[in-house]
Amino acid sequence: MTDCIFCRIVRGDIPAHKIYEDEKVVAFLDIYPINPGHTLIVPKEHYERLDQVPPETLDAMIRAAARIAPAILRATGATGYNVVVNVGKSAGQEIMHVHLHVIPRREGDGCHI
Ligand code: IMP
Repeated sequence: MTDCIFCRIVRGDIPAHKIYEDEKVVAFLDIYPINPGHTLIVPKEHYERLDQVPPETLDAMIRAAARIAPAILRATGATGYNVVVNVGKSAGQEIMHVHLHVIPRREGDGCHI
């Protein structure tokens, strides 16, 4: 999937504010954040849907979320967060490279996830 925007971010072909990387995943700030610190976690390999991702990569995605979320809260002053994945156009998936959203939250922030 050479023209996939998230594959291009993984390769470093287009800029992104990367905040975490390991063997399996990259995490970077969402370009249109719902709240400050809104982060996307993507597998380095291209999979469209969550149900296509191999177990070890799923593990890496959720472990990355658990690892970076406390740092995001410390950096933003948020007190909670949502981990969200949209699968399929009908569910709001716009980029067809599976990704976890980590969305920092505050009491009364008015977000509707
Ligand atoms: P989806 O609707 O679950 O597919 O979410 C796609 C997310 O990718 C949206 O929150 C977009 O703001 C975000 N996004 C799209 N293009 C870029 C980019 O180039 N860099 C960072 N985030 C992006």
